[in-house]
Amino acid sequence: MNKSGKTLIELNSLLDKWQTRLLLDGWDISIKIVEFNRTDYQQSGDIKVNLEQKKAVVLLTNMPFKDEEYVLVHELVHLLLWDLDTFSEKFVLKKSNTKLKGQHGAYMEKLEATVDHLTKILINSK
Ligand SMILES: [Zn+2]
Repeated sequence: MNKSGKTLIELNSLLDKWQTRLLLDGWDISIKIVEFNRTDYQQSGDIKVNLEQKKAVVLLTNMPFKDEEYVLVHELVHLLLWDLDTFSEKFVLKKSNTKLKGQHGAYMEKLEATVDHLTKILINSK
């Protein structure tokens, strides 16, 4: 697969740096370069998390259009919030919770705004 932007070696060394800075040393985290095939929006990254095994895979696009370090840190901030996020999301998605019906989109927007804000703080203070 073609990869523009940083090499996997460069990305892995950024991962090492941020994993330590974010106190995620107890985690087994790897990077996988992928081709995102979404048609609704252009995706730059994603993260798959196994909380019990403390394992995570950061998926990064092979055709980056944003700063790749920023995207990597964004995904790692998702990992920091993962336990809280999945706990909260269950409530939002609960069928019996009629007050939160149809609010999943709003929840995701708030989550992304929070993750982005924290990412900016971290990137600016590196
Ligand atoms: Zn995100």
